[in-house]
Amino acid sequence: MNTKNNIFVTQPLLPPLEEFIPYLEKIWENKILTNGGPFHQQLEKALCEYLGVEYIALFTNATIALVTALQALRITGEVITTPYSFVATAHSLLWNGIKPVFVDIDPDTLNLDPTKIEAAITPNTTAIMPVHCYGHPCDVEAIQKIADVYNLKVIYDAAHAFGVKDEHGSVLNYGDLSVISFHATKVFNTFEGGAIVCPDAKTKQRIDHLKNFGIVDEVTVVAPGINGKMSEFNAAFGLLQLQHLDNAMQRRKVIDNYYREQLAAVSGIQCLGDAGEVIANYSYFPILVQPEYPMTRDALYAKFREQGIYARRYFYPLIADFPMYRGLPTSQHGNLPVAADAAAKVLCLPIHPALKQQDVELVIGVISAIP
Ligand SMILES: *Cc1c(COP(=O)(O)O)cnc(C)c1O
Repeated sequence: MNTKNNIFVTQPLLPPLEEFIPYLEKIWENKILTNGGPFHQQLEKALCEYLGVEYIALFTNATIALVTALQALRITGEVITTPYSFVATAHSLLWNGIKPVFVDIDPDTLNLDPTKIEAAITPNTTAIMPVHCYGHPCDVEAIQKIADVYNLKVIYDAAHAFGVKDEHGSVLNYGDLSVISFHATKVFNTFEGGAIVCPDAKTKQRIDHLKNFGIVDEVTVVAPGINGKMSEFNAAFGLLQLQHLDNAMQRRKVIDNYYREQLAAVSGIQCLGDAGEVIANYSYFPILVQPEYPMTRDALYAKFREQGIYARRYFYPLIADFPMYRGLPTSQHGNLPVAADAAAKVLCLPIHPALKQQDVELVIGVISAIP
C-alpha cells in the first residue's frame, strides 16, 4: 500500500553536513584514522564532562562494550538479567559462555524487579545485568543492596540512559560498570558506537587494553582482547553532535509532554510514567495498549502501518522467547508474567527531534479515532 507518510519511531540526529567537513579535513591532515587518536581523546573528555562521569572508554558499538565489560570484571557462571530488553543484553552473556537467568520486571517501570532477584540467586551467580529501560533508571539502591549482600557485580546495560540524571547526578555512575550505546537509533549517535563508563583510572586502563587486543605496548599482550576501538571518523562525528544535543533533547521533551497531555483522556492507552529521574532523555515513548482499548496492540500497530507510521513493538518478543534462550529454565512465561504482559501490550510511538508537529498530531489522531 502506498502512503505519503513516512513517520519512523526514530530518525538519526544529523547536524548540517557542512559542519562536519572541517572535522574530516582535520582527519586527512592528521592522517590518524583510529587507535585512540586526537578526536577519540577529545570525545572521551567531552563526554565525561557532558554526562558527569569520571572515566569513559569509547567503543565501536555497545554490544562489544557489553561483552568487554563482562570480560573486564571476569564474570562467569550465571548472571541475572531482564528478558525485557534488546536482544544484545543477553547475547553479551552468551558470548562470554555465561548462563542468563531471567527475572521478571516491575509493572510500573518495566525495569528488573529487585524484589524478585534474591530468589534467582544460586551459588553460580556472579553478577546482575539490569537495563535502564527507555532511559528510566532502575531501582539502583535496591539492586546494589542485594549485590552487596551476595557479593555480586552489577553491570548496567545503560544503552538507553545517555544523559539521564537522578538527584545524585548521572545514573551512569551506578553499579560497577555502565554501558551506553551511540547507535544511529539512539539519542546521541556516532553512526555506530558505544562506551563503558568506568569508576576509576585502573579499570579504564584494563578496558582500554581489552578493546585493543590486550596490547599494552609493542611487545606486551596481557589479555585475549578484542578489537573494540572507535575510529576517528565516529569520534569526530560525536564531538559535532554534542553541540546539537541540547536542542534535540528540548524538542524530544516537547513531543513527550504533548503525547502525555493528548493521550491522557484516551481510555485503554497507558503512558509509562517516569522513574523519578531529575533529567530525562525522552529517548522512547512507550504506550501500553490495555484491554479497555477497542483494538489490540497488534491491530493498532497494523493501523499505524497503513498510515505510513512505523511504531515499534519494543520489546516484543521477549528475549527469553528467542530460540537460543527459550530452553532456559527461567525463560518460561510463568516465571515472567509481567514481562510477557508488557511485551504483548507495548508500542513505542515516534519520537525524535525532526518529528513535525503535524506528524505528532497524525499519530495522536490514529490512536484517538477508534470508534
Ligand atoms: C541499542 C541497544 C544495545 C546495543 O547497542 P549497539 O551499540 O547497537 O551495539 C544494547 N542494549 C540495549 C538495551 C539497546 O537498546
